[in-house]
Order: sequence, then structure tokens, then C-alpha cells
Amino acid sequence: MNEANLRAYNFNAGPSALPLEVLEKAQSELTNFRGTGMSIMEMSHRSAIFEEIHNGAISRMRKLFSIPDQYEVLFLQGGASLQFSMIPMNFLQVGQQAGYIMTGSWSEKAFKESKLFGEPYEVVSTKENKYRNIPALEDIQINEDDAFIHLTSNNTIYGTQWSAFPDTGDIPLIADMSSDIMSKPVDINKFGMIYAGAQKNLGPSGVTVVIVRKDLLEKANMDIPTILKYSTHADNNSLYNTPPTFGIYMLGEVLNWMEAKGGLEAIAKNNEEKAKVIYDAIDHSNGFYTGHATPESRSLMNITFRVADETLEKLFLTEAEEAGFVGLNGHRSVGGCRASTYNAVPLEACQALGDFMVQFQKKHS
Ligand code: PMP
Repeated sequence: MNEANLRAYNFNAGPSALPLEVLEKAQSELTNFRGTGMSIMEMSHRSAIFEEIHNGAISRMRKLFSIPDQYEVLFLQGGASLQFSMIPMNFLQVGQQAGYIMTGSWSEKAFKESKLFGEPYEVVSTKENKYRNIPALEDIQINEDDAFIHLTSNNTIYGTQWSAFPDTGDIPLIADMSSDIMSKPVDINKFGMIYAGAQKNLGPSGVTVVIVRKDLLEKANMDIPTILKYSTHADNNSLYNTPPTFGIYMLGEVLNWMEAKGGLEAIAKNNEEKAKVIYDAIDHSNGFYTGHATPESRSLMNITFRVADETLEKLFLTEAEEAGFVGLNGHRSVGGCRASTYNAVPLEACQALGDFMVQFQKKHS
């Protein structure tokens, strides 16, 4: 807990920490948004005021993430999980192949949905290595007539992250960036589509960001429900039906905050520094703590580790909680510990965790 502002040291995996400045601004505007006598939640999504918020968020995202004009930026609902179905529904034909690169549970979930619509196959999987690593680029062999290649850029549960992406040539590369979107600059031109639930790096849950190349929409399947077609949302500026207005407002404010922080280069630098503090505590512990991911595949967003002595691990999590650290339990499917250090987690919280880990080790070894 930061005693000065009474904010928890929040390492939740998502929904997760939001910038205090954004929360305070939202609080100050909550009951009377800029003299309207209403909150954002109480006004029409067709009003000029909301439209300004909505279009402002889209254009700010385009600018900050350097999204070229030939891409649509869509704000959808249904979470990243709905994208697992919408992607094959829109881009895969019956009998057609698509390649899935398997680096964790979220890749598995995406792959499973795709089987309902076509013939996806596993390009490569690191499951045998307990998803400790990202595959080597030379192990990625794709078929020329694949509809698309799908990967998960950051594996929230296992704590691995791609540092360079494969070149898939003319085959669209589709990335689930739910847990590292806008944590660093990325060359959007490498991708046919990027998608992410907002609830880790971008805002509250309820908004799903989709960045998709316009030419893919022209070739997409048309015999699917209207609301599940990307083109419906592109044609209607993501206002086909009532959008999650408050979430979009918050997203816009988080983007403003990112801009004020110096944009993605500065945010990436800060994220590196934050993760280093915690990885250092693991690496300098002489095996007291062990990282799950192989060092070259380590995520800067989700730091997964074990306390080598299992009985001490429980105590570590209990004492950490008592000391005001929140969300350090590993995902329920794998156990262990996980510190999620998304954009809005301050360096100071990571330093406090690093110090706590060192102190805990001193006390118990
Ligand atoms: N992909 C990844 C990488 C995730 O971390 C998550 C959620 N933790 C999802 C997909 C699912 O997202 P949602 O809950 O928004 O459907």
C-alpha cells in the first residue's frame, strides 16, 4: 500500500491497475460532465459530446500506436474471447486452413473456436515445455494457402512474450495482444489484425479493441450474423449498436495519460525498468525464487515465478497480502506467483515488491 495516496500495490492480471490520475479525473467529471449536468453513462451514444469522446479515443489511439490509414480501429464488446470466434467466422472458409502458434491457454482457446469454422492446424506448440518459451522464428513453417496465422503476443498465464514477430508474407498475421497492447511500439504493418480486451493496459473491461486491415474486410465471409461481421462495425464507426460508453471514455482518458507520459517509447522504457526490478530479485536469489519462463522469452507484463520451497510459497503469498500487495497468486490453472506489471503499475510498486521479495528471502533462508 502506498501510504501517501492509500492505493494498493496492485499486481492484478486483469482487470488491473488504472492510472490514479485517470481515476481522479473520471471522479471529478462523474456527476456533471463538462457542465452537462449528466455523467457520460447517462447521455446518448448519438450525442455530439459522446461522439467527440469516441472519435477522440480512436484518433488518439491511431496517433500513439502509429496505426496506418489502411487499418480500421474498432471498439467492440464480448472481450477477446469473442474474437476467438469472430476471427474464423469472418476470415475462414469451410475446409480452409489457418495456422495457430500455440504458446499457452489463450492460444488453445482461440484454436478450439476456429475448429468450428474451418481446418485450423498447430504451426508449432511449446506445450511440451510447459509453455515456458516462445518458439524460435525458424520453427515457424506455414502453408502458402493459409487463411491467416494466429499468435498470442503475450501469454498472461505463463508469463512469456514475443520480442520479434514472424514474417508471414502475404498471409495475414493476427495477434491477440490482450495483455501487452500498447506496452511498447509495434510495427502494425506486420499484422493483418490485432485485438485486445481493454482491461489490462487500456482501461476497464467491456471494450475490445480491434485493429484490422481494410482489405481483409472486403474479402471476409458475408453469410454470418450482422453484429459479428467486422464490416458492420467498420461501416458504422463502431456505433452500430449501443457501445460501452463509459469504458470508451475511460479508454480515451488512459490514452491521454499515455500521451502525457511521453508515448509508447517512454512507456516501454518504464515497463522494462519495472520488470527488471522483479526479475533481478528472482535472478539474485540463488534459486530461492525460480522464474517460469526461459529468460529469452520472459514477459515484461506478467512475471511468473515460484518460491522453490512449496510451504514457503503459501507463506510468501500470505505475507505479501498482509503487506498490501494485491493479485500475486498465479492463475488458478498453474498456481505459483505472478506479478502483472501493466502500463499503469507504478515503478514504485515494483520496487516495493522487489524489496519485499529480498526481505522475505532473508527472513526464511
Ligand atoms: N487473451 C489473453 C492473452 C488474455 O490474457 C485474456 C484474458 N486474461 C483473454 C484473451 C480473454 O479475454 P476476455 O476476458 O476479454 O475475453
